[in-house]
Amino acid sequence: MNLKTPVENIQYIGAVYQKRLAKLKIYTVEDLLNHMPDKYDDFSVISNLSSAEKGQNITIRANVVKIENKRIFKKKMVLTEAVIQDGETKAKVVWFNQPYLLNSIKEGEEYFFSGKIDIRSKWLTLTNPVVEKTFSKNAGTHTGRIVPTYPETRGITSKWLRFVIKNLLQRIDNIPEILPNEIIKEQKFLTKTDALKKIHFPDNIDDVKEAKRRIAFEQVYLIQITLLEEKIRISRENAVSIPINVDALKKLTAQLPFKLTDSQKKTSWQILKDMEKKYPMNRLLEGDVGSGKTVVAAIAIVNTAKAKFQSALMVPTEVLAKQHFKEIFSLLKSFNINIGLLTGKEDKYYSKKLKNDFIEISRKKLLEKVLIGDIDLLIGTHALIQDKVKFNNLALVVLDEQHRFGVKQRAKLVSRDRKEDVRIPHLLSMTATPIPRTLALSLYGDLDLSLITQLPKGRKKVLTKIVFEKDRANVYAFTKKQVQKGKQVFVICPRIDPDENKEENSRWTNAKAVKEEYERLQKIFPKFNIGIIHGKMGIKEKERTMQDFKNKKINILVSTSVIEVGIDVPNATVMIIEGAERFGLAQLHQFRGRVGRSKSQSYCFLFPESFSPKTKKRMAAILSSADGFSLAEQDLKLRGAGDFFGKKQWGLTDITMKSLANLELVQLARESAIKTIEKDVSLKGHPLLKLKVNELRKNMHLE
Ligand code: ADP
Ligand code: MG
Repeated sequence: MNLKTPVENIQYIGAVYQKRLAKLKIYTVEDLLNHMPDKYDDFSVISNLSSAEKGQNITIRANVVKIENKRIFKKKMVLTEAVIQDGETKAKVVWFNQPYLLNSIKEGEEYFFSGKIDIRSKWLTLTNPVVEKTFSKNAGTHTGRIVPTYPETRGITSKWLRFVIKNLLQRIDNIPEILPNEIIKEQKFLTKTDALKKIHFPDNIDDVKEAKRRIAFEQVYLIQITLLEEKIRISRENAVSIPINVDALKKLTAQLPFKLTDSQKKTSWQILKDMEKKYPMNRLLEGDVGSGKTVVAAIAIVNTAKAKFQSALMVPTEVLAKQHFKEIFSLLKSFNINIGLLTGKEDKYYSKKLKNDFIEISRKKLLEKVLIGDIDLLIGTHALIQDKVKFNNLALVVLDEQHRFGVKQRAKLVSRDRKEDVRIPHLLSMTATPIPRTLALSLYGDLDLSLITQLPKGRKKVLTKIVFEKDRANVYAFTKKQVQKGKQVFVICPRIDPDENKEENSRWTNAKAVKEEYERLQKIFPKFNIGIIHGKMGIKEKERTMQDFKNKKINILVSTSVIEVGIDVPNATVMIIEGAERFGLAQLHQFRGRVGRSKSQSYCFLFPESFSPKTKKRMAAILSSADGFSLAEQDLKLRGAGDFFGKKQWGLTDITMKSLANLELVQLARESAIKTIEKDVSLKGHPLLKLKVNELRKNMHLE
């Protein structure tokens, strides 16, 4: 047996358990050992019954005096009742609906019992305790020690997992190290084997800490190696060097309707300098909503077009594609640049006619123009990376709100006729998600980072207010006035359907549902057009609704969080957020950024459903700060890294997720990773590490 042995080959595990384990994504011995406890119960102290007190959580060692099953007909239940004795003291133990216990618990023998002490009809009583035979003097697996509890699934209990994992740990020794030896020595880390033993079956709480540190470090280090390797890989590719065309850029900035902020100037310069190099740029441009990223991209695009190379701009939705098309079209009007718009299934496409306005041409024609290099900038959704789209000489790819795009994907966009000399396009990825520094290192350590830290001058602050139920009517009266003035309104709710997830996820049961709210608001504002948008609608339907809202056919748009990605409706001035405490601070800030995009004063009303001290603190933060970065930092502290990852998409353990917020650990891991890579770029001396890195590359979609 080794780490790669499939679970079905492990003793006690058959086809049934194999299926159940698959639900936890456990397929091999290694997966089982990596299934980490999420909690521990300290049953390490063995108490005496004589000193037991009501309400105490204890483990005792006692003899079974008597045990029997009793049927409770009224309740259709079986009660297993035992009398146990420890020294002179007796107690009762009851279990519900576990009649089979009678087969394993024998009168006259000694067991550990762990559970909560109660007093019933004058008897010390333990209800449903964990029970385990006492083997010699050793502590048990489920009692008499610090006992791990695991994430479970139907038919896989922590008790079962403890049993199986303990068995494995006894039989597997000398688990191969992924970390280089010198790091283990330098950091005084536990061996991998000891770390796993201690995390599953710690002797004390310090064991858990030490083991967690070791395991978290390993994963963070692995991520860092993977990202650094990617960075080196990209720097070894060829790209077109685009000279900086000072004249063209002066002309562009001169004819903009505004002055660039210092941040915009600085980041544009970083981008232009990158593109002068002979290897591909790999840069992330981070800037709050409304900070003006589009014009920074436009600067890079103009410079590329002036050098007679093509650019592509890829966005997540058709509505956004059209929005960008119009905005960039108007920014670059006085330049002789041809812009194409390529979206999904529609068959009408636009292209800029010289100087004046844009016209519709067929998709076929557009693709021809792209192929012969007549289109300088092609804007579109994922439709851009279809095989049918062939560029003539693509040199720059800009991604809006899609963070990663590997070398292979980029190479695919390059015309196939030039196989012998593949030059990878430069990549500029843009995001409005403020990512705290620690996380940026962990998530995007392969990218260079440019930050837009200021908003354009003269922006009106969005007036933000926390509102309680008693003032709801006032907010609606205010909303009505805004709509009557021709303004538009967003209402964000935390859930789609009133019945959804009611049982599975009770924390959502009170959350306002979009559909419910949509109907309610129709009654409150019978004269207004109310629209609805949520993640379960088809893409087309969503896009149509968004377009209707942009065209002012809808006055009030009720939505789930799907609304948050870069949509620009300057006429919207009111943002109402229901169940506000359920969203992360950075997310609330994103919602708020949907309004305040015009000269008119905008408003954001937060309706929390509960007002715990924690909520209070978070709401106070959003009131006092309009800085997305500082809010994101606070989010990370208050809610952990989960929000930033879009669920565990990389298959990282909770331990790792938590450590990604730990700057000290991340920095240590990064420094160590740099040392390793500097000594051994190809990881020849660390075959196992290399293997793991390749696995992670796939998970992180760097391929
Ligand atoms: P985001 O960073 O959210 O993508 P946009 O690029 O859409 O922001 O810019 C938001 C708005 O601000 C646009 O209408 C844009 O024309 C305008 N804008 C951009 N830069 C400036 C600036 N320096 N001064 C004034 N307005 C600006
Ligand atoms: Mg944008």
